[in-house]
Amino acid sequence: MKNKEKKRSRSRALITIAVLSWLILMVCLTFMMDARRVSFHVSGEEEITIEQGTAYTEPGVYAVTDGRLFGESKRQLNIRRNGQVDTGTVGSYEIEYSADSIFGRASTRRVVHVVDSQAPVIELDYIEDYSPNWLEGYVEEGYRAYDSYDGDLTDKVKRQQLADRVIYSVSDSSGNETQVERPLPDYSQMPSLNIVGEEYVEIYAGEEYTDPGCIAIDGLGNDLSAYLQTEGAVNSYSSGDYFITYSLMGADGQGVSATRCVSVLPQPMPETVEPSGKTIYLTFDDGPGPYTGRLLDILSAYGVPATFFVTAAYPDYYDLIGRAHREGHTIGVHTASHNYNQIYASERDWFQDFSKMQQIVHEQTGDYTKIFRFPGGSSNTVSRFNPGIMTRLDKMATDLGYKYFDWNVSSGDAGETNDTTEIFENIINGCAGRSWSIVLQHDIKDYSIAAVEQVIIWGRNNGYTFRALDMTSPDAHHGLNN
Ligand code: ZN
Repeated sequence: MKNKEKKRSRSRALITIAVLSWLILMVCLTFMMDARRVSFHVSGEEEITIEQGTAYTEPGVYAVTDGRLFGESKRQLNIRRNGQVDTGTVGSYEIEYSADSIFGRASTRRVVHVVDSQAPVIELDYIEDYSPNWLEGYVEEGYRAYDSYDGDLTDKVKRQQLADRVIYSVSDSSGNETQVERPLPDYSQMPSLNIVGEEYVEIYAGEEYTDPGCIAIDGLGNDLSAYLQTEGAVNSYSSGDYFITYSLMGADGQGVSATRCVSVLPQPMPETVEPSGKTIYLTFDDGPGPYTGRLLDILSAYGVPATFFVTAAYPDYYDLIGRAHREGHTIGVHTASHNYNQIYASERDWFQDFSKMQQIVHEQTGDYTKIFRFPGGSSNTVSRFNPGIMTRLDKMATDLGYKYFDWNVSSGDAGETNDTTEIFENIINGCAGRSWSIVLQHDIKDYSIAAVEQVIIWGRNNGYTFRALDMTSPDAHHGLNN
């Protein structure tokens, strides 16, 4: 009995264990078949692209558990979001969503692409009334480039200038490209040059010439006169044709030019008239000086007109220039300084010396004289240190309307002799046999002055008329030697 009972209770326990094991097995199988896990529900796309600078709105995510047999649970799990989207910085941002449950941790991801798809903007400046000129071509008026993401891109602008337009292009850091064009007017037409005043101008020597210039206007109406180059000058002291050329040259060496001719005409000169009858022109150089007053007294006593080629050597006697003029004598310029090295150094130096003396003559007489005598005579060789100066002065002075006189009778009072009788004989021997004589004496030599009265008496007795030189008198030019 005891054994039977033992056996029965053992088999009951075995059955219970078997049933329980089976139940556990079934539960386990059910659990495995359900395969429960965390399930994410992501709203929107897994990859989202947004424009930089715009707000990012999270579309939302929720998680539940889900199984094959029993489906989703009602209860939503807590979600942790990891990752930030910087909408101000272009890039790709990953956001991780994770949730914990008794079945473990699960996660999913979303990628947000922040992009710059907006192209930069190029703004062109326009300067009022600007138009490119022929000489400089188009000069950039200015431009700016701006990008909503990169900011100022002006420095990055590529500029391509063509004949008829400028192309500006720029790319931003995201590769968005912008290109704008500025059309250019045709500025290639050669400027036209318009000479102000006449193209051919005539003036008389000694008249001041001021060039009125030239105007240059290009095809678009730009005034380029300031860029004109002027070549040539007018020497208004010397007759001849002078050419003034205005030119405008482009960088390529092409250009335009125009030329004006200025013709300097010699001042009209009275014709030389041979004096009627036998004539003696007494001429006195280098005064006035201490003896000039005495000479004037003699001439006055005989009513003889003479010619004085004056210098500035003796200021105390300048007033005798005025007296001689008032008494009917001719005043001519000789020189202020009588310094050969100085006056023949250049035309300018000669003319300065001449003008200085002319001024003294004007102060004393109220008149300017057109008559003069070269120091040393026109044939002098002391000026040869400046080759050709006498030839140039001869032309210049004549062009300016001045008439110079040499002499054909020398008294010899300038070094050859200081004997009055010899001087007298030199003069009368020179005058004898000539229909007209220009006698050279120096009124700063008292021994020469002393011969004048005898010469006058001799001349009168031999049928000569004494005259003062004027613009029609014969000039007794020696001929130029330099
Ligand atoms: Zn002299």
